[in-house]
Amino acid sequence: MAQKLRRLNIASVGDLFFLLPHRYLDRRKRSNIAEVPPGKDQSVIGTVMAAGIGFLGARQKRVYEVVVEDDTGLLTAIWFHFHLPYMQKVFHVGDKILLAGEITIFGRKKQIVHPDVEKIVDEQSLKEVSGRILPVYPLTEGLYQKTLRKIIRNAWEKYGEMILHRREELKQIHFPPQDADVDSYNNFRSPAHQTLIYDEFFLLELGLALKRRNTILEEGIIIPTNFEFHKKFLNTLPFSLTHNQETVLEEIFQDLKNKQPMHRLLQGDVGSGKTVVAACGLGQAVASGAQGCLMVPTEILAGQHFQTLKRMFDPLKIPVALLTSDIKGKEREKIYQGLQSGEIPIVVGTHAILEEGVQFSKLGFVVIDEQHRFGVLQKQLLQKKGPKPNVLIMTATPIPRTLAMTLYGDLDVSTLREKPVGRKPIITKLYSERGREKLYQGMKIELKKEHQIYVVYPLIEESEKVDLKDATQMFEEIKNVFPEYSVALLHGRLPSEKKEAVMKEFQDQKIQILVATMVVEVGLDIPKATVMVIEHAERFGLSQLHQLRGRVGRSEKQSYCVLMMDWKRSEEAEKRLQVMVESNDGFRIAEEDLNIRGPGEFIGTRQSGLPEFRVANLARDLDILQKARDEAFALVEKDPDFTRPEHIPLKALLEERWKGKLGLAGVA
Ligand code: ADP
Ligand code: MG
Repeated sequence: MAQKLRRLNIASVGDLFFLLPHRYLDRRKRSNIAEVPPGKDQSVIGTVMAAGIGFLGARQKRVYEVVVEDDTGLLTAIWFHFHLPYMQKVFHVGDKILLAGEITIFGRKKQIVHPDVEKIVDEQSLKEVSGRILPVYPLTEGLYQKTLRKIIRNAWEKYGEMILHRREELKQIHFPPQDADVDSYNNFRSPAHQTLIYDEFFLLELGLALKRRNTILEEGIIIPTNFEFHKKFLNTLPFSLTHNQETVLEEIFQDLKNKQPMHRLLQGDVGSGKTVVAACGLGQAVASGAQGCLMVPTEILAGQHFQTLKRMFDPLKIPVALLTSDIKGKEREKIYQGLQSGEIPIVVGTHAILEEGVQFSKLGFVVIDEQHRFGVLQKQLLQKKGPKPNVLIMTATPIPRTLAMTLYGDLDVSTLREKPVGRKPIITKLYSERGREKLYQGMKIELKKEHQIYVVYPLIEESEKVDLKDATQMFEEIKNVFPEYSVALLHGRLPSEKKEAVMKEFQDQKIQILVATMVVEVGLDIPKATVMVIEHAERFGLSQLHQLRGRVGRSEKQSYCVLMMDWKRSEEAEKRLQVMVESNDGFRIAEEDLNIRGPGEFIGTRQSGLPEFRVANLARDLDILQKARDEAFALVEKDPDFTRPEHIPLKALLEERWKGKLGLAGVA
């Protein structure tokens, strides 16, 4: 039993009490058959008179019927979907059963469709399933609802008294009072639910508030705004900033001139122009006599950003260096020296920047691009070098505001919503296998224009081998269909030098069609790529699809995204993918995605750093989160050291709940 419970993450009695029912059955009303009124949540007890297959209605639909009788009348239970052997095992003539559900009147017959069924063997078994609101718990293989209910009841009787915190709420959750509003329980909005959810959020936000307070107390490098330099910098650009970029820059400049180091997240859809914003900040750092660095997750992105920054800073005679693991020997030595002496004011690179030998003279501004690829540790490592630099984290994964608050609760958030003018929205099409011919024709047209194409194949870890075979087959097929073009296959199993080499060739237009598993880099800017084909699109989350789609549409040319859907697609998948056809707005898509998949799936719980909640659910409980956040931040502001008597117990709770996870100096 312990093993089974462990599968539900239950290792202690305490865990057991935090296993929340996912719904409740209202079994309070019980009547005899003659008196039971039509409507929901009714239950009756009767004896099985007959059970078997029946045929219903003009179309003679096959159903399973069970007729039960009590002293007052007959009731027919009907199943439209059933597994015959199972039904035969459950129902025997002469059995006493309880049927619960919605009673309807059909002609003169009383019936109940797809009821819940409980076998009644004695008074005790009746008492367990009737006369009250019953919790329904999540189960695991080999563990039955009845057993779990019994375990929790026994545990509560033995240990419930010992619970100090939220005892009453937990009791109500497992054993709702007779006068409870069942709907509120089923919506997780009973007073008890609200309190427990609030608690959980409150502790999280309290931790974040403290963490943020610690950073506010830090001493940073002050970078006063140099408007003259800024103007000069803007003059070298071939475009002017959008209004949105300007607003975000104002926020950044404001942070930079403060004594506290900046901790800001800049989120903006692919192509929203984050790089130039970062460059303006780097420029300010340099103008103030400090250094700046830009960190990216891969060599190829580093190379790309290096070129971009060089173009921007060359006219101003500000040197920019590139530091990746590729750069070795004397050249590397020279960069090390330049950084240490301050002769190199700006460096772009991969995690190579984090290595031991790298010392800055005065690092004032750090930009981390596509941060989800960097571990927290690396972030901290970087922040250790020298006095605290200002940090700007950039991400192209738009996150709904409320979720961003939780994930990055200790960061300020800036958002680029507007895109630079002149870009045509990407045209997105949804095809099934029947549309493949049309797809190939469209690809041919684009190839003739000397455009390039991505074909992306999903690679699901569990079936990696099979999928890789599929991707390889697709690669062969494309080679056959487009013999006059150069096609390459890029997959995760390739050594990273090989991957980079293939990407480089694609960038240099030596390859026209790139068949790839999910390894197409975020942030990669290849203007001639105008078509993104995504195979088995139904296997991807919307946000992922949007990220992939963002690899094209990087120039004035019209770009296309074709979502290929499996013929076995469900209606639901089609509806979901339709959002992609309708919208190019990453935020709208992210919100949709969050609604459909929930936050865990949305960000991938494990690597997200998102805490696992026992009661709360980010998608469902955002309103409570907002309240908890406001109150937690207000509390920390008023009593940051928890010295007021009523706040002292909070310290212990925080410690217990977030053991080290929040990296709180004063608490953990
Ligand atoms: P991302 O936010 O995805 O990193 P980039 O910074 O790569 O976007 O910008 C995408 C493209 O838009 C780049 O080619 C950049 O030069 C261009 N760009 C950025 N800002 C503007 C602007 N205000 N007007 C016109 N083009 C811009
Ligand atoms: Mg970018």
